[in-house]
Amino acid sequence: MKFSQMFIPTTKETPNDATLPSHQFLLRGGFINQTGAGIYNFMPLGKIVLDKIRAVVKEEMDNAGANEVLMSFVTPLELWEQSGRSVAMGPELLKFKDRKNAGFVLSPTNEETVVDIVKNRITSYKDLPINLYHINTKFRDEARPRFGLMRGREFLMKDAYSFHDSHEDLVREFNVMEEAYKKVYERLGLEFRVVEADSGAIGGSGSKEFMILANSGEDTIVVCDSCAYGANIEAAKRKPNKKEKLETKALEKVETPNCKTIAEVSEFLNADSFYSMKAVMKKAIYEESSEVVLFFVRGTDELEETKACNAADALDLEDASEEEVIAAGLVPGFCGIVDLPKDIKVYVDIELKEDNNLVCGANEENYHFTGVDLTSMELQYADLVAVQEGDSCPCCDGKLSYTKGIEAGHIFQLGTKYSEAMDAKFLDANGKAQPFVMGCYGIGVSRLVAAVIEQHHDEKGCIWTKQTAPFMVDVIVSNGKKENELEAGMNIYNSLKQAGIETIIDDRKQQRFGFKMGDFELIGFPYAVVVGKKLQDGLVEVVDRKTLEKTEVKVEEVVEYLINKIK
Ligand code: ATP
Ligand code: MG
Repeated sequence: MKFSQMFIPTTKETPNDATLPSHQFLLRGGFINQTGAGIYNFMPLGKIVLDKIRAVVKEEMDNAGANEVLMSFVTPLELWEQSGRSVAMGPELLKFKDRKNAGFVLSPTNEETVVDIVKNRITSYKDLPINLYHINTKFRDEARPRFGLMRGREFLMKDAYSFHDSHEDLVREFNVMEEAYKKVYERLGLEFRVVEADSGAIGGSGSKEFMILANSGEDTIVVCDSCAYGANIEAAKRKPNKKEKLETKALEKVETPNCKTIAEVSEFLNADSFYSMKAVMKKAIYEESSEVVLFFVRGTDELEETKACNAADALDLEDASEEEVIAAGLVPGFCGIVDLPKDIKVYVDIELKEDNNLVCGANEENYHFTGVDLTSMELQYADLVAVQEGDSCPCCDGKLSYTKGIEAGHIFQLGTKYSEAMDAKFLDANGKAQPFVMGCYGIGVSRLVAAVIEQHHDEKGCIWTKQTAPFMVDVIVSNGKKENELEAGMNIYNSLKQAGIETIIDDRKQQRFGFKMGDFELIGFPYAVVVGKKLQDGLVEVVDRKTLEKTEVKVEEVVEYLINKIK
Protein backbone atom coordinates (compact mmCIF):
# COMPACT_ATOMS: atom_id res chain seq x y z
CA MET A 1 0.00 0.00 0.00
CA LYS A 2 1.15 3.53 -0.75
CA PHE A 3 0.88 6.22 1.89
CA SER A 4 -0.08 8.67 -0.84
CA GLN A 5 -3.16 6.58 -1.63
CA MET A 6 -4.21 5.72 1.87
CA PHE A 7 -6.40 7.77 4.19
CA ILE A 8 -4.29 8.11 7.34
CA PRO A 9 -5.46 11.31 9.04
CA THR A 10 -2.71 11.73 11.68
CA THR A 11 -2.80 14.82 13.86
CA LYS A 12 -0.88 16.50 16.65
CA GLU A 13 -4.07 17.42 18.50
CA THR A 14 -4.99 15.45 21.60
CA PRO A 15 -8.60 15.89 22.73
CA ASN A 16 -8.99 16.99 26.37
CA ASP A 17 -10.89 13.91 27.43
CA ALA A 18 -8.29 11.51 26.04
CA THR A 19 -6.29 10.59 29.13
CA LEU A 20 -5.10 7.09 28.23
CA PRO A 21 -2.18 6.58 25.81
CA SER A 22 -4.27 4.21 23.67
CA HIS A 23 -7.08 6.74 23.37
CA GLN A 24 -4.65 9.53 22.43
CA PHE A 25 -2.47 7.55 20.02
CA LEU A 26 -5.33 5.76 18.25
CA LEU A 27 -7.00 9.12 17.59
CA ARG A 28 -3.76 10.95 16.73
CA GLY A 29 -2.47 8.07 14.59
CA GLY A 30 -5.60 8.23 12.46
CA PHE A 31 -6.80 4.75 13.45
CA ILE A 32 -10.21 5.82 14.74
CA ASN A 33 -12.39 8.87 15.14
CA GLN A 34 -15.31 9.67 17.34
CA THR A 35 -18.84 10.41 16.15
CA GLY A 36 -20.64 10.44 19.49
CA ALA A 37 -20.16 9.58 23.16
CA GLY A 38 -18.63 6.09 23.17
CA ILE A 39 -19.17 5.70 19.41
CA TYR A 40 -16.22 5.40 17.02
CA ASN A 41 -15.44 4.96 13.34
CA PHE A 42 -12.51 2.82 12.28
CA MET A 43 -10.28 4.48 9.68
CA PRO A 44 -8.30 2.30 7.22
CA LEU A 45 -5.39 1.54 9.57
CA GLY A 46 -7.72 0.92 12.50
CA LYS A 47 -9.83 -1.39 10.38
CA ILE A 48 -6.77 -3.45 9.43
CA VAL A 49 -5.77 -3.88 13.09
CA LEU A 50 -9.34 -4.72 14.11
CA ASP A 51 -9.60 -7.32 11.33
CA LYS A 52 -6.28 -8.89 12.33
CA ILE A 53 -7.39 -9.33 15.91
CA ARG A 54 -10.76 -10.58 14.73
CA ALA A 55 -9.03 -13.14 12.47
CA VAL A 56 -6.93 -14.54 15.34
CA VAL A 57 -10.04 -14.83 17.49
CA LYS A 58 -11.93 -16.55 14.67
CA GLU A 59 -9.11 -19.00 13.98
CA GLU A 60 -8.80 -20.06 17.59
CA MET A 61 -12.58 -20.42 17.97
CA ASP A 62 -12.75 -22.51 14.81
CA ASN A 63 -9.81 -24.64 15.99
CA ALA A 64 -11.66 -25.23 19.25
CA GLY A 65 -14.62 -26.60 17.33
CA ALA A 66 -17.06 -23.71 17.66
CA ASN A 67 -19.43 -22.79 14.77
CA GLU A 68 -19.44 -19.25 13.45
CA VAL A 69 -22.89 -17.73 12.96
CA LEU A 70 -24.12 -14.15 12.71
CA MET A 71 -26.95 -13.14 14.98
CA SER A 72 -28.95 -9.99 14.45
CA PHE A 73 -27.88 -6.78 16.19
CA VAL A 74 -31.48 -5.71 16.78
CA THR A 75 -33.48 -8.21 18.83
CA PRO A 76 -37.16 -8.24 19.87
CA LEU A 77 -37.75 -6.97 23.40
CA GLU A 78 -40.04 -9.97 23.92
CA LEU A 79 -37.04 -12.30 24.18
CA TRP A 80 -35.58 -10.10 26.89
CA GLU A 81 -38.88 -10.17 28.74
CA GLN A 82 -38.80 -13.98 28.66
CA SER A 83 -35.37 -14.07 30.27
CA GLY A 84 -36.21 -11.29 32.72
CA ARG A 85 -33.30 -9.19 31.56
CA SER A 86 -35.39 -6.40 30.03
CA VAL A 87 -35.41 -5.07 33.60
CA ALA A 88 -32.31 -6.72 35.08
CA MET A 89 -29.94 -5.15 32.51
CA GLY A 90 -31.03 -1.71 33.71
CA PRO A 91 -30.41 1.43 31.65
CA GLU A 92 -27.49 -0.14 29.74
CA LEU A 93 -30.07 -1.91 27.57
CA LEU A 94 -31.10 0.47 24.79
CA LYS A 95 -34.74 -0.12 23.94
CA PHE A 96 -36.77 1.40 21.16
CA LYS A 97 -39.97 0.94 19.20
CA ASP A 98 -40.56 0.39 15.53
CA ARG A 99 -43.35 1.98 13.44
CA LYS A 100 -45.78 -0.69 14.60
CA ASN A 101 -45.00 0.14 18.20
CA ALA A 102 -43.23 -3.19 18.77
CA GLY A 103 -40.35 -3.13 21.27
CA PHE A 104 -36.75 -3.90 20.28
CA VAL A 105 -33.29 -3.67 21.81
CA LEU A 106 -29.79 -3.15 20.47
CA SER A 107 -28.05 -6.36 21.59
CA PRO A 108 -25.58 -5.84 24.45
CA THR A 109 -24.95 -9.64 24.43
CA ASN A 110 -26.89 -12.50 22.81
CA GLU A 111 -27.93 -15.21 25.29
CA GLU A 112 -31.61 -14.65 24.52
CA THR A 113 -31.16 -14.86 20.75
CA VAL A 114 -29.02 -17.98 20.85
CA VAL A 115 -31.42 -19.79 23.18
CA ASP A 116 -34.22 -18.87 20.80
CA ILE A 117 -32.18 -20.31 17.90
CA VAL A 118 -31.46 -23.61 19.62
CA LYS A 119 -34.87 -24.03 21.24
CA ASN A 120 -36.98 -26.58 19.34
CA ARG A 121 -34.15 -27.10 16.82
CA ILE A 122 -31.93 -29.18 19.05
CA THR A 123 -34.26 -31.60 20.73
CA SER A 124 -32.09 -34.58 21.68
CA TYR A 125 -29.01 -35.17 23.83
CA LYS A 126 -27.59 -36.87 20.73
CA ASP A 127 -27.16 -33.45 19.09
CA LEU A 128 -25.22 -32.04 22.03
CA PRO A 129 -22.79 -30.47 22.75
CA ILE A 130 -22.71 -27.52 20.39
CA ASN A 131 -20.92 -24.18 20.54
CA LEU A 132 -22.14 -21.22 18.45
CA TYR A 133 -20.25 -17.94 18.21
CA HIS A 134 -20.33 -14.70 16.32
CA ILE A 135 -18.26 -11.56 16.08
CA ASN A 136 -20.62 -8.64 15.96
CA THR A 137 -21.42 -5.13 17.12
CA LYS A 138 -22.76 -4.72 20.63
CA PHE A 139 -24.42 -1.73 22.19
CA ARG A 140 -24.43 -0.95 25.89
CA ASP A 141 -25.59 2.44 27.05
CA GLU A 142 -22.69 2.65 29.50
CA ALA A 143 -23.11 5.26 32.26
CA ARG A 144 -19.61 6.58 31.64
CA PRO A 145 -18.29 5.74 28.20
CA ARG A 146 -14.61 6.68 28.26
CA PHE A 147 -11.04 5.82 27.34
CA GLY A 148 -11.84 5.54 23.65
CA LEU A 149 -12.26 1.96 22.45
CA MET A 150 -11.75 0.69 25.98
CA ARG A 151 -15.25 1.48 27.20
CA GLY A 152 -17.38 2.38 24.25
CA ARG A 153 -21.14 2.24 23.97
CA GLU A 154 -20.93 0.59 20.56
CA PHE A 155 -18.16 -2.00 20.34
CA LEU A 156 -17.16 -5.25 18.67
CA MET A 157 -17.35 -8.45 20.69
CA LYS A 158 -16.86 -12.11 20.00
CA ASP A 159 -19.48 -13.98 21.95
CA ALA A 160 -19.87 -17.73 22.04
CA TYR A 161 -22.56 -19.89 23.63
CA SER A 162 -22.31 -23.59 24.32
CA PHE A 163 -25.09 -26.08 25.04
CA HIS A 164 -24.67 -29.31 27.01
CA ASP A 165 -26.59 -32.19 28.51
CA SER A 166 -24.66 -32.09 31.80
CA HIS A 167 -22.66 -29.83 34.03
CA GLU A 168 -19.58 -32.06 33.56
CA ASP A 169 -19.69 -31.52 29.83
CA LEU A 170 -20.05 -27.77 30.33
CA VAL A 171 -16.93 -27.78 32.53
CA ARG A 172 -15.05 -29.67 29.79
CA GLU A 173 -15.99 -27.02 27.20
CA PHE A 174 -15.26 -24.20 29.65
CA ASN A 175 -11.70 -25.54 29.89
CA VAL A 176 -11.46 -25.85 26.10
CA MET A 177 -12.49 -22.19 25.80
CA GLU A 178 -9.99 -21.14 28.46
CA GLU A 179 -7.19 -22.75 26.45
CA ALA A 180 -8.43 -21.20 23.19
CA TYR A 181 -8.54 -17.76 24.82
CA LYS A 182 -5.01 -18.14 26.15
CA LYS A 183 -3.83 -18.90 22.62
CA VAL A 184 -5.55 -15.75 21.33
CA TYR A 185 -3.78 -13.44 23.79
CA GLU A 186 -0.47 -15.23 23.37
CA ARG A 187 -0.65 -14.93 19.59
CA LEU A 188 -1.49 -11.23 19.87
CA GLY A 189 1.74 -10.79 21.86
CA LEU A 190 0.03 -9.75 25.08
CA GLU A 191 1.03 -10.29 28.66
CA PHE A 192 -2.09 -11.46 30.46
CA ARG A 193 -3.42 -13.28 33.48
CA VAL A 194 -6.45 -15.52 33.90
CA VAL A 195 -8.33 -14.63 37.09
CA GLU A 196 -11.40 -15.71 39.02
CA ALA A 197 -14.25 -13.30 38.49
CA ASP A 198 -17.67 -12.15 39.55
CA SER A 199 -20.42 -13.15 37.14
CA GLY A 200 -22.26 -9.80 37.10
CA ALA A 201 -25.56 -9.35 35.27
CA ILE A 202 -24.84 -12.29 32.93
CA GLY A 203 -25.43 -14.63 35.86
CA GLY A 204 -24.56 -18.26 36.47
CA SER A 205 -21.82 -19.78 38.57
CA GLY A 206 -18.09 -19.96 37.99
CA SER A 207 -16.47 -17.42 35.72
CA LYS A 208 -12.98 -16.39 34.71
CA GLU A 209 -11.64 -13.16 33.28
CA PHE A 210 -8.66 -12.65 30.99
CA MET A 211 -6.77 -9.58 32.12
CA ILE A 212 -4.26 -7.76 29.96
CA LEU A 213 -1.71 -6.43 32.43
CA ALA A 214 -1.41 -2.64 32.17
CA ASN A 215 -1.10 0.13 34.75
CA SER A 216 -4.02 1.96 33.20
CA GLY A 217 -6.39 -1.01 33.58
CA GLU A 218 -9.75 -0.25 35.16
CA ASP A 219 -9.78 -3.53 37.07
CA THR A 220 -7.84 -4.26 40.22
CA ILE A 221 -6.63 -7.82 40.29
CA VAL A 222 -5.35 -9.65 43.30
CA VAL A 223 -2.40 -11.97 42.68
CA CYS A 224 -0.38 -14.29 44.86
CA ASP A 225 3.39 -13.86 45.08
CA SER A 226 4.03 -17.59 45.21
CA CYS A 227 1.29 -19.52 43.41
CA ALA A 228 -0.91 -19.05 40.33
CA TYR A 229 -3.88 -17.66 42.29
CA GLY A 230 -5.36 -14.55 40.71
CA ALA A 231 -8.79 -12.96 41.05
CA ASN A 232 -10.59 -9.77 40.23
CA ILE A 233 -10.91 -7.84 43.50
CA GLU A 234 -14.68 -8.18 43.04
CA ALA A 235 -14.33 -11.91 43.64
CA ALA A 236 -10.99 -12.25 45.43
CA LYS A 237 -10.70 -14.48 48.46
CA ARG A 238 -8.13 -14.66 51.26
CA LYS A 239 -7.35 -16.80 54.26
CA PRO A 240 -9.43 -15.27 57.05
CA ASN A 241 -7.57 -12.62 59.03
CA LYS A 242 -7.33 -14.17 62.48
CA LYS A 243 -6.34 -12.88 65.86
CA GLU A 244 -6.68 -14.50 69.23
CA LYS A 245 -10.28 -14.73 70.45
CA LEU A 246 -11.24 -12.41 73.31
CA GLU A 247 -13.04 -13.48 76.44
CA THR A 248 -16.78 -12.95 76.37
CA LYS A 249 -17.89 -9.85 78.26
CA ALA A 250 -21.29 -8.48 79.12
CA LEU A 251 -22.90 -6.08 76.66
CA GLU A 252 -22.36 -2.53 77.84
CA LYS A 253 -23.39 0.82 76.42
CA VAL A 254 -20.57 3.37 76.78
CA GLU A 255 -20.46 7.07 76.05
CA THR A 256 -18.14 7.89 73.13
CA PRO A 257 -18.52 11.64 72.62
CA ASN A 258 -18.04 12.72 68.99
CA CYS A 259 -16.33 9.43 68.10
CA LYS A 260 -17.76 8.61 64.69
CA THR A 261 -14.97 6.77 62.89
CA ILE A 262 -13.46 3.42 63.78
CA ALA A 263 -10.14 5.14 64.49
CA GLU A 264 -11.73 7.68 66.85
CA VAL A 265 -13.69 5.04 68.75
CA SER A 266 -10.72 2.67 69.04
CA GLU A 267 -8.47 5.42 70.34
CA PHE A 268 -11.08 6.66 72.81
CA LEU A 269 -11.74 3.16 74.17
CA ASN A 270 -8.09 2.14 73.86
CA ALA A 271 -9.26 -0.94 71.95
CA ASP A 272 -7.88 -2.83 68.93
CA SER A 273 -10.03 -1.87 65.93
CA PHE A 274 -9.77 -5.50 64.75
CA TYR A 275 -12.39 -6.27 67.41
CA SER A 276 -14.87 -3.70 66.16
CA MET A 277 -17.63 -3.66 63.54
CA LYS A 278 -17.74 -1.14 60.74
CA ALA A 279 -21.24 -0.35 59.47
CA VAL A 280 -21.62 0.59 55.80
CA MET A 281 -25.02 1.93 54.74
CA LYS A 282 -26.01 1.62 51.11
CA LYS A 283 -29.10 2.16 49.05
CA ALA A 284 -29.88 -1.15 47.33
CA ILE A 285 -31.66 -0.86 43.99
CA TYR A 286 -34.16 -3.62 43.19
CA GLU A 287 -36.37 -4.13 40.15
CA GLU A 288 -39.23 -2.07 41.46
CA SER A 289 -37.98 -0.55 44.68
CA SER A 290 -34.97 0.65 46.61
CA GLU A 291 -34.12 0.61 50.30
CA VAL A 292 -31.33 1.32 52.74
CA VAL A 293 -29.45 -1.86 53.67
CA LEU A 294 -26.66 -2.36 56.17
CA PHE A 295 -23.39 -4.20 55.80
CA PHE A 296 -20.99 -4.95 58.62
CA VAL A 297 -17.31 -5.73 58.20
CA ARG A 298 -14.48 -5.81 60.70
CA GLY A 299 -13.15 -2.37 61.71
CA THR A 300 -9.88 -3.10 59.90
CA ASP A 301 -11.62 -4.15 56.66
CA GLU A 302 -13.30 -2.41 53.75
CA LEU A 303 -16.53 -3.41 52.05
CA GLU A 304 -16.26 -4.83 48.49
CA GLU A 305 -19.29 -3.40 46.71
CA THR A 306 -19.76 -6.15 44.15
CA LYS A 307 -19.77 -8.79 46.87
CA ALA A 308 -22.18 -6.65 48.90
CA CYS A 309 -24.47 -6.19 45.91
CA ASN A 310 -24.53 -9.96 45.32
CA ALA A 311 -25.24 -10.63 49.01
CA ALA A 312 -28.21 -8.25 48.97
CA ASP A 313 -29.36 -9.73 45.64
CA ALA A 314 -29.69 -6.16 44.38
CA LEU A 315 -29.33 -4.82 40.84
CA ASP A 316 -27.01 -2.11 42.07
CA LEU A 317 -25.82 -0.32 45.20
CA GLU A 318 -25.72 3.45 45.57
CA ASP A 319 -24.47 5.67 48.37
CA ALA A 320 -27.30 6.37 50.80
CA SER A 321 -27.82 10.05 51.62
CA GLU A 322 -27.91 11.24 55.25
CA GLU A 323 -31.67 11.88 54.94
CA GLU A 324 -32.28 8.35 53.65
CA VAL A 325 -30.21 6.88 56.47
CA ILE A 326 -32.11 8.86 59.09
CA ALA A 327 -35.46 8.02 57.47
CA ALA A 328 -34.51 4.33 57.76
CA GLY A 329 -34.18 4.84 61.53
CA LEU A 330 -30.37 4.75 61.59
CA VAL A 331 -27.96 7.13 63.31
CA PRO A 332 -25.06 8.05 60.99
CA GLY A 333 -21.69 7.49 62.66
CA PHE A 334 -23.18 5.40 65.46
CA CYS A 335 -24.80 2.57 63.60
CA GLY A 336 -24.47 -0.87 65.21
CA ILE A 337 -25.85 -4.37 65.08
CA VAL A 338 -27.76 -4.27 68.40
CA ASP A 339 -31.27 -2.75 68.63
CA LEU A 340 -31.63 -2.05 64.91
CA PRO A 341 -34.97 -1.07 63.36
CA LYS A 342 -36.73 -4.39 62.66
CA ASP A 343 -37.38 -4.15 58.95
CA ILE A 344 -33.85 -3.24 57.88
CA LYS A 345 -31.84 -5.84 55.93
CA VAL A 346 -28.47 -6.62 57.51
CA TYR A 347 -25.53 -8.57 56.08
CA VAL A 348 -22.44 -9.41 58.13
CA ASP A 349 -19.06 -10.45 56.80
CA ILE A 350 -18.42 -14.15 57.25
CA GLU A 351 -15.10 -13.51 59.04
CA LEU A 352 -17.05 -11.96 61.92
CA LYS A 353 -19.02 -15.15 62.51
CA GLU A 354 -18.32 -16.62 65.96
CA ASP A 355 -16.84 -13.33 67.19
CA ASN A 356 -17.67 -12.03 70.60
CA ASN A 357 -16.70 -9.00 72.64
CA LEU A 358 -16.86 -6.58 69.73
CA VAL A 359 -17.38 -2.82 69.66
CA CYS A 360 -20.11 -1.32 67.50
CA GLY A 361 -22.34 1.76 67.38
CA ALA A 362 -25.32 1.90 69.74
CA ASN A 363 -27.71 3.48 67.23
CA GLU A 364 -27.71 6.49 69.49
CA GLU A 365 -25.76 9.71 69.10
CA ASN A 366 -22.43 9.58 71.03
CA TYR A 367 -22.80 5.99 72.27
CA HIS A 368 -21.25 2.63 71.38
CA PHE A 369 -21.71 -0.89 72.65
CA THR A 370 -18.84 -3.02 73.91
CA GLY A 371 -19.01 -6.75 74.58
CA VAL A 372 -21.16 -7.41 71.50
CA ASP A 373 -21.51 -11.19 71.08
CA LEU A 374 -22.49 -12.31 67.58
CA THR A 375 -22.67 -15.99 68.51
CA SER A 376 -25.99 -15.35 70.23
CA MET A 377 -27.60 -13.58 67.25
CA GLU A 378 -29.46 -14.84 64.16
CA LEU A 379 -27.60 -13.11 61.34
CA GLN A 380 -27.14 -13.38 57.61
CA TYR A 381 -23.46 -13.88 56.79
CA ALA A 382 -21.69 -13.45 53.44
CA ASP A 383 -18.22 -12.79 52.07
CA LEU A 384 -18.16 -8.98 51.98
CA VAL A 385 -14.55 -7.86 52.36
CA ALA A 386 -12.25 -6.26 49.85
CA VAL A 387 -9.05 -8.31 49.96
CA GLN A 388 -6.13 -6.06 50.87
CA GLU A 389 -2.48 -6.15 49.85
CA GLY A 390 -0.51 -8.27 52.30
CA ASP A 391 -3.47 -10.56 53.06
CA SER A 392 -2.78 -14.30 52.89
CA CYS A 393 -3.41 -16.31 49.74
CA PRO A 394 -6.44 -18.63 50.00
CA CYS A 395 -4.52 -21.42 48.18
CA CYS A 396 -1.01 -21.37 49.67
CA ASP A 397 1.18 -19.61 52.22
CA GLY A 398 1.92 -16.70 49.89
CA LYS A 399 0.99 -13.05 50.28
CA LEU A 400 -1.46 -11.23 48.02
CA SER A 401 -0.83 -8.01 46.18
CA TYR A 402 -2.66 -5.80 43.68
CA THR A 403 -1.99 -5.23 40.03
CA LYS A 404 -4.01 -3.54 37.30
CA GLY A 405 -5.62 -5.23 34.34
CA ILE A 406 -7.80 -4.60 31.32
CA GLU A 407 -10.62 -7.11 31.05
CA ALA A 408 -10.25 -8.49 27.54
CA GLY A 409 -12.33 -11.62 27.93
CA HIS A 410 -14.76 -13.27 30.27
CA ILE A 411 -16.01 -16.87 30.27
CA PHE A 412 -19.00 -18.09 32.27
CA GLN A 413 -20.51 -21.37 33.34
CA LEU A 414 -24.09 -20.23 32.96
CA GLY A 415 -25.89 -23.42 33.87
CA THR A 416 -29.63 -23.44 33.18
CA LYS A 417 -30.44 -19.81 33.99
CA TYR A 418 -31.50 -18.86 30.46
CA SER A 419 -32.74 -22.21 29.22
CA GLU A 420 -35.07 -22.48 32.20
CA ALA A 421 -36.32 -18.91 31.92
CA MET A 422 -36.99 -19.39 28.21
CA ASP A 423 -38.20 -22.98 28.50
CA ALA A 424 -35.54 -24.40 26.17
CA LYS A 425 -35.29 -28.15 26.66
CA PHE A 426 -33.92 -31.34 25.11
CA LEU A 427 -34.75 -35.00 25.70
CA ASP A 428 -32.12 -36.86 27.68
CA ALA A 429 -31.14 -40.55 27.27
CA ASN A 430 -34.17 -41.55 29.34
CA GLY A 431 -36.53 -39.52 27.19
CA LYS A 432 -36.96 -36.93 29.91
CA ALA A 433 -37.12 -33.19 29.04
CA GLN A 434 -34.22 -31.23 30.59
CA PRO A 435 -33.17 -27.59 30.28
CA PHE A 436 -29.92 -27.08 28.33
CA VAL A 437 -26.82 -26.56 30.45
CA MET A 438 -25.07 -23.51 28.99
CA GLY A 439 -21.77 -21.68 28.94
CA CYS A 440 -20.99 -18.28 27.43
CA TYR A 441 -17.69 -16.80 26.40
CA GLY A 442 -16.87 -13.18 25.44
CA ILE A 443 -13.82 -11.43 24.00
CA GLY A 444 -13.71 -7.64 23.62
CA VAL A 445 -12.35 -7.47 20.06
CA SER A 446 -12.39 -3.67 19.72
CA ARG A 447 -11.23 -3.23 23.33
CA LEU A 448 -8.21 -5.38 22.42
CA VAL A 449 -7.12 -2.79 19.84
CA ALA A 450 -6.75 -0.33 22.73
CA ALA A 451 -5.35 -2.96 25.11
CA VAL A 452 -2.45 -3.76 22.76
CA ILE A 453 -1.45 -0.09 22.83
CA GLU A 454 -1.86 0.25 26.60
CA GLN A 455 0.72 -2.51 26.92
CA HIS A 456 2.89 -1.48 23.96
CA HIS A 457 3.62 2.21 23.53
CA ASP A 458 6.16 4.88 24.44
CA GLU A 459 5.92 8.66 24.69
CA LYS A 460 6.05 9.00 20.91
CA GLY A 461 3.21 6.66 20.04
CA CYS A 462 2.03 3.12 19.34
CA ILE A 463 4.31 0.05 19.09
CA TRP A 464 2.23 -2.70 17.46
CA THR A 465 3.03 -6.34 18.08
CA LYS A 466 3.79 -8.62 15.11
CA GLN A 467 0.27 -10.04 14.95
CA THR A 468 -1.49 -6.71 15.31
CA ALA A 469 0.64 -4.31 13.23
CA PRO A 470 -1.29 -2.76 10.32
CA PHE A 471 1.93 -3.13 8.26
CA MET A 472 5.21 -4.68 9.40
CA VAL A 473 7.47 -2.31 7.49
CA ASP A 474 7.19 1.35 6.51
CA VAL A 475 9.55 2.17 3.62
CA ILE A 476 10.19 5.88 4.08
CA VAL A 477 11.29 7.69 0.97
CA SER A 478 13.12 10.59 2.52
CA ASN A 479 12.49 12.97 -0.37
CA GLY A 480 9.59 11.84 -2.53
CA LYS A 481 10.54 14.27 -5.24
CA LYS A 482 13.88 12.54 -5.88
CA GLU A 483 13.39 9.94 -8.58
CA ASN A 484 16.31 7.72 -7.48
CA GLU A 485 15.07 7.56 -3.87
CA LEU A 486 11.55 6.80 -4.99
CA GLU A 487 12.73 4.09 -7.35
CA ALA A 488 14.98 2.43 -4.77
CA GLY A 489 12.14 2.65 -2.24
CA MET A 490 9.69 1.05 -4.66
CA ASN A 491 12.14 -1.80 -5.33
CA ILE A 492 12.52 -2.56 -1.64
CA TYR A 493 8.76 -2.23 -1.15
CA ASN A 494 8.01 -4.68 -3.98
CA SER A 495 10.61 -7.19 -2.81
CA LEU A 496 9.29 -7.11 0.76
CA LYS A 497 5.77 -7.66 -0.49
CA GLN A 498 6.95 -10.55 -2.63
CA ALA A 499 8.55 -12.05 0.45
CA GLY A 500 5.14 -11.97 2.10
CA ILE A 501 5.89 -9.06 4.42
CA GLU A 502 3.07 -6.55 4.81
CA THR A 503 4.63 -3.27 3.76
CA ILE A 504 3.59 0.33 3.22
CA ILE A 505 5.68 2.91 1.38
CA ASP A 506 5.70 6.53 2.45
CA ASP A 507 6.00 7.97 -1.05
CA ARG A 508 4.42 11.33 -0.24
CA LYS A 509 5.98 14.13 -2.24
CA GLN A 510 4.80 17.10 -0.21
CA GLN A 511 5.89 15.85 3.23
CA ARG A 512 9.35 16.34 4.67
CA PHE A 513 11.40 13.50 6.11
CA GLY A 514 10.88 14.65 9.72
CA PHE A 515 7.13 14.57 9.27
CA LYS A 516 7.24 11.05 7.81
CA MET A 517 9.44 9.87 10.66
CA GLY A 518 6.99 11.43 13.14
CA ASP A 519 4.12 9.53 11.52
CA PHE A 520 6.13 6.29 11.66
CA GLU A 521 6.75 6.74 15.38
CA LEU A 522 3.17 7.76 16.12
CA ILE A 523 1.54 4.99 14.08
CA GLY A 524 3.98 2.40 15.35
CA PHE A 525 4.83 0.09 12.43
CA PRO A 526 7.43 -2.36 13.84
CA TYR A 527 10.15 -1.35 11.32
CA ALA A 528 11.02 1.50 8.98
CA VAL A 529 13.48 1.45 6.10
CA VAL A 530 14.74 4.96 5.44
CA VAL A 531 15.78 5.53 1.85
CA GLY A 532 17.72 8.81 1.85
CA LYS A 533 21.07 10.48 1.29
CA LYS A 534 23.12 7.33 2.06
CA LEU A 535 21.67 5.77 -1.06
CA GLN A 536 24.65 7.11 -3.02
CA ASP A 537 26.84 4.84 -0.84
CA GLY A 538 24.49 1.95 -1.45
CA LEU A 539 23.03 2.10 2.07
CA VAL A 540 19.62 2.43 3.71
CA GLU A 541 18.74 2.68 7.39
CA VAL A 542 16.50 0.24 9.26
CA VAL A 543 14.73 1.67 12.32
CA ASP A 544 13.35 -0.64 14.99
CA ARG A 545 10.23 1.08 16.37
CA LYS A 546 10.49 -0.58 19.77
CA THR A 547 14.05 0.47 20.56
CA LEU A 548 14.32 3.30 17.97
CA GLU A 549 17.73 1.79 17.15
CA LYS A 550 19.03 2.59 13.68
CA THR A 551 21.11 0.18 11.64
CA GLU A 552 22.74 0.89 8.28
CA VAL A 553 22.21 -1.94 5.84
CA LYS A 554 23.29 -2.42 2.22
CA VAL A 555 20.42 -1.80 -0.19
CA GLU A 556 20.72 -5.25 -1.70
CA GLU A 557 20.72 -6.91 1.73
CA VAL A 558 17.86 -5.05 3.39
CA VAL A 559 15.09 -7.44 2.36
CA GLU A 560 16.98 -10.45 3.69
CA TYR A 561 17.85 -8.49 6.83
CA LEU A 562 14.18 -7.72 7.53
CA ILE A 563 13.01 -11.24 6.72
CA ASN A 564 15.40 -12.55 9.38
CA LYS A 565 14.21 -9.99 11.92
CA ILE A 566 10.54 -10.67 11.32
CA LYS A 567 10.31 -14.39 10.74
P1 ATP B 1 -16.72 -4.49 32.15
O1 ATP B 1 -16.63 -5.13 33.52
O2 ATP B 1 -15.42 -3.97 31.64
O3 ATP B 1 -17.85 -3.51 32.04
P2 ATP B 1 -18.36 -6.64 31.35
O4 ATP B 1 -18.09 -7.53 32.48
O5 ATP B 1 -19.60 -5.87 31.33
O6 ATP B 1 -17.12 -5.66 31.17
P3 ATP B 1 -18.78 -8.85 29.53
O7 ATP B 1 -20.26 -8.78 29.60
O8 ATP B 1 -18.08 -9.94 30.24
O9 ATP B 1 -18.19 -7.44 30.00
O10 ATP B 1 -18.35 -8.75 28.00
C1 ATP B 1 -17.30 -9.53 27.40
C2 ATP B 1 -16.15 -8.66 26.96
O11 ATP B 1 -16.57 -7.55 26.15
C3 ATP B 1 -15.42 -8.01 28.12
O12 ATP B 1 -14.49 -8.89 28.66
C4 ATP B 1 -14.76 -6.81 27.46
O13 ATP B 1 -13.52 -7.19 26.88
C5 ATP B 1 -15.72 -6.43 26.35
N1 ATP B 1 -16.51 -5.24 26.73
C6 ATP B 1 -17.49 -5.17 27.65
N2 ATP B 1 -17.98 -3.93 27.74
C7 ATP B 1 -17.30 -3.18 26.82
C8 ATP B 1 -17.36 -1.81 26.42
N3 ATP B 1 -18.22 -0.98 26.97
N4 ATP B 1 -16.51 -1.40 25.44
C9 ATP B 1 -15.64 -2.25 24.87
N5 ATP B 1 -15.54 -3.55 25.21
C10 ATP B 1 -16.36 -4.02 26.18
MG1 MG C 1 -17.15 -9.22 32.66
